[in-house]
Amino acid sequence: MSFEIYGPDPTVLDISGRKPHVLIIGAGVAGLALAIMLQKADIPFDIFEKSPEARAVGK
Ligand SMILES: Cc1cc2nc3c(=O)[nH]c(=O)nc-3n(C[C@H](O)[C@H](O)[C@H](O)COP(=O)(O)OP(=O)(O)OC[C@H]3O[C@@H](n4cnc5c(N)ncnc54)[C@H](O)[C@@H]3O)c2cc1C
Repeated sequence: MSFEIYGPDPTVLDISGRKPHVLIIGAGVAGLALAIMLQKADIPFDIFEKSPEARAVGK
């Protein structure tokens, strides 16, 4: 499977000379899917999750 990431080019440094760094708010399925894509594209990121524990949805 292949995919493309639209957004900052990870090979381009910003005006501070740093690589882009993505902040993901929420470790739901969308946030985790984005994290996987960013990791494959070698784009650094952090995830912020407000819930202190993992829990199932719909149970
Ligand atoms: C009762 C129920 C049953 C469901 N059953 C199914 C099913 O059987 N099959 C199915 O495909 N889908 C089901 N869904 C839908 C599915 O859960 C959602 O479509 C999916 O979880 C959405 O993913 P998401 O990442 O967008 O959001 P979420 O999964 O809601 O994740 C968002 C995350 O962001 C965190 N967050 C929110 N605000 C902040 C903040 N300010 N700072 C830090 N973190 C924050 C939340 O704690 C959460 O972990 C169900 C939903 C519900 C409510």
